Amino acid sequence: MEPVMAAAAADPSILVESLRRGLPGERIVVDPDVLAALSRDDAEWAPAGKAAAAVRARSEAEVQHVVRTCADLGTPLVPRGAGTGLSGGANAVGGCVILDLSQMSRLLEIDPENLLCTVQAGAVNNDVKAAVAEYGLWYPPDPASAPWSTIGGNVATNAGGLCCLKYGVTRDYVLGLRAVAGGPVAYGDAVRLGRRTTKGVAGLDLVGLFVGSEGTLGVVTEVTLRLRPAPAGTPRTVVAAFADLVASGVAVAAITRLGLTPAVLELLDRACLEAVEDWKHLGIEADAAALLLARVDTPGDSGAAEAAAVAATMTDAGAIWVEQSTDDAEAEALFDARRLAYPALERLGPVLTEDVCVPRSAVPQMLAQINAIAAEHGVRVATIAHAGDGNLHPLLITPPGDDAARQAAQAAFEQFLDAAIALGGTVTGEHGVGILKRDGMRRELDPGSLAIQSAIRAALDPRGIFNPGKG
Ligand SMILES: Cc1cc2nc3c(=O)[nH]c(=O)nc-3n(C[C@H](O)[C@H](O)[C@H](O)COP(=O)(O)OP(=O)(O)OC[C@H]3O[C@@H](n4cnc5c(N)ncnc54)[C@H](O)[C@@H]3O)c2cc1C
Repeated sequence: MEPVMAAAAADPSILVESLRRGLPGERIVVDPDVLAALSRDDAEWAPAGKAAAAVRARSEAEVQHVVRTCADLGTPLVPRGAGTGLSGGANAVGGCVILDLSQMSRLLEIDPENLLCTVQAGAVNNDVKAAVAEYGLWYPPDPASAPWSTIGGNVATNAGGLCCLKYGVTRDYVLGLRAVAGGPVAYGDAVRLGRRTTKGVAGLDLVGLFVGSEGTLGVVTEVTLRLRPAPAGTPRTVVAAFADLVASGVAVAAITRLGLTPAVLELLDRACLEAVEDWKHLGIEADAAALLLARVDTPGDSGAAEAAAVAATMTDAGAIWVEQSTDDAEAEALFDARRLAYPALERLGPVLTEDVCVPRSAVPQMLAQINAIAAEHGVRVATIAHAGDGNLHPLLITPPGDDAARQAAQAAFEQFLDAAIALGGTVTGEHGVGILKRDGMRRELDPGSLAIQSAIRAALDPRGIFNPGKG
């Protein structure tokens, strides 16, 4: 899906001069080292072009000036939050302006009576959680990158996380947003989309269209988020070890089939556990092929019964051992291991991150396919998964500088995508298409769906400036 009209690179000196006309000089970055650092996200394998400049915006008016300038000069514009993306979505396009939103991080409003808050796009997920917690409220979406990733980035990727199984993804919490757009409005106009009410069907769901649009429809500057009351009671953690990766998938499918809804159901395979243990020495024994970590947050006796049912299901699926705990510190060590798995593996070599999502009944087959494809290509793979969502991240790790291993990993990556599609799944559950999954998306989506998406992009961005070549 190519942008209708690919934007061309403008003369860098004219571009910077035009940016200076509406921005304090210190907002504009041209230093090559700083620019290079702002030109990539966390997807080590995704290519990045050379940006002409970056702008560290501090207000919506500054974003508007950048959008107008890029539209006038036909310069590609790449929005950026914290750059924790795993698909190359925030990577520079040749001659582009990187628009860094991370300094627009103010919390504008917390409305406890209506269970909502409004934040600037650069607010960090965990900072929003902490601020609303002071009012006894909770913002559930919890990507493992929550200490760093921004709400704008979460919205643009429709980020998932650990507790989606019970509480849903970012889309379920976005009531409204402000964006600086183009197309039907003049480039650089700010538009308000959505609402503050819990219900509302006036017009098409444009908020839904922007959520997950990966910066291709405009720049999100402000987001109004739905909140929940903070969960009551102490959650129970159920941990199970499996001698066989596929058996852990059988447990996941059975938990779904029985209608059990733990808040969290995560998987870590042995390679992940070993990498975390070697790095952080958390005292986790990596003696199993896979661990399943479940968290049940239903309070009282029902919660105890639910945790017992989850544990029994894991035992029936062939777990070597299963333990239940309400000890927060013990549970947190395990969840820390889950959150640290990705950076722990990055220490071993460049990581190519897969993000397939399959129907939950197909988790055992997908895990079997991961093993088989990895063996066929002789590649090193470590799997973490939001298993309860059917969202699996087999991570391909290659020794630095080993081209043959890289090619083998690339071939396995594409085969994982095809296996997921064949099982009725999708090539990306939460990280977005970015650059890495463009081919896979073309294989997955119906041609009519691709045509509609191209038409929407053409209508909303006829000059093709918003993050061209992504999504
Ligand atoms: C250790 C680690 C763990 C992770 N765990 C998870 C996880 O559990 N679940 C999950 O879903 N993801 C996860 N991710 C991926 C990543 O954190 C998410 O995709 C996150 O939403 C990206 O946010 P960001 O602020 O870093 O955005 P960036 O990486 O800066 O940008 C991501 C995309 O959003 C666009 N964008 C950013 N801000 C805006 C804006 N204001 N307006 C318009 N477009 C914008 C960019 O152009 C790009 O296409 C993880 C990443 C890491 C490194």
